[in-house]
Amino acid sequence: MNASDVFAFADAFGPAKIIHVYEPSVGLKAILVVDNVARGPAIGGLRMASDVSVEECFRLARAMTFKNAAAGLPHGGAKSVIFGDPKMPGPEKEKLIRAFASSLRNERDYIFAPDMGTDEDCMAWVKDEIGRAAGLPRDLGGIPLDEIGATGWGIYQATEIAARYSNLKLDGARVVIQGFGAVGQHSARFLTQAGAILVGASDSQGAVHNPRGLDVSALMALKKTGKSVSDHTDGEKLNREAVIDMECDIWIPAARPDVINAANVSHLKTRLIVEGANIPVTPEAEIFLHGRDVLCVPDFIANAGGVICAAMEYRGATQSTAFSSIEEKVRSNTEQVLETVKKTTILPREAALELAENRVKKAMSYRRWSLFSSADEFVHK
Ligand code: NAD
Repeated sequence: MNASDVFAFADAFGPAKIIHVYEPSVGLKAILVVDNVARGPAIGGLRMASDVSVEECFRLARAMTFKNAAAGLPHGGAKSVIFGDPKMPGPEKEKLIRAFASSLRNERDYIFAPDMGTDEDCMAWVKDEIGRAAGLPRDLGGIPLDEIGATGWGIYQATEIAARYSNLKLDGARVVIQGFGAVGQHSARFLTQAGAILVGASDSQGAVHNPRGLDVSALMALKKTGKSVSDHTDGEKLNREAVIDMECDIWIPAARPDVINAANVSHLKTRLIVEGANIPVTPEAEIFLHGRDVLCVPDFIANAGGVICAAMEYRGATQSTAFSSIEEKVRSNTEQVLETVKKTTILPREAALELAENRVKKAMSYRRWSLFSSADEFVHK
């Protein structure tokens, strides 16, 4: 690779740093991409995977720059990857993670957080090595965000605001959730506590449908035993794709990327979509929905509860302070985005990106280097 190739995907926002780490004594091969730190030290997940390119790592880091800015956090965006099988034996994994953390001891622009293939134990090892990690075990002052439903709490707040823009009442609204995992279960729990009715849910093994309403506690208890939502007896057992055709008012994707795309978007029978998963709706499908007046609250506005919780934990906040912060930030950001959409013809995602970009640009304008910048649009916004 030429030195110039490294900058092939660089633009006015970043990436600020790309660091390759190689430690042959433990077999460590890893990369860190710090995208933009104008808003503060970057928080971003450490992923363990065998097949992530530098460019992909950069794209994930950029997504964190905008997600953290959209969430109103004083943090930039970054992502790191250790190349390897996340299911490798524990001691081997610990060695790699400790070696990686140790090699980034002086990279004060990066705060580790968990991602695919890493968990709170991994963050505890990082904390032990260098002190800079969020998403810690409860014993080390961590707030277990999936257990308490931090992202689901944010999804509920975003839905509450968005319902007003869709002329929907949450009380009595019919909800369908695709992906009854950490995000999906807690979204269902908070929404039904507010009077909504869960009429359909799915997981990787199947779906269940009951227009009279599903018992969320019973479904959550069932999932704890390792069974599928489709094993729930009070409803119709269907295949997992059936959730796309279920009639409802609010549809929440909380499983995987690109699940709603050009081929299936016309099947949806809903008025509001609140994106729990990351990029669950393709750009073409979002345009289609906008044309049909189906409001789509973008992922990085609606599902920011987890990262807000991690950032609050890093500052030593308690669980209840973290919940208040998620409530305040997600509500205000959803409102700002949907107000822009109401006053213009742009898509919610475009409005959300504009909000995030403007926050990053504003932060960049305060940096000393902006004095020497020729990119006027960044300095004077
Ligand atoms: P999870 O593993 O706890 O749950 C995912 C659920 O989706 C599981 O029940 C799984 O069976 C189901 N699933 C997988 N493929 C499916 C399919 N094709 N159809 C229906 N169900 C399917 O994961 P999670 O933490 O709940 O995260 C869900 C999504 O939200 C992921 O895309 C994740 O990146 C994103 N996200 C999570 C958080 C968080 O705080 N956990 C924050 C932001 C974004």
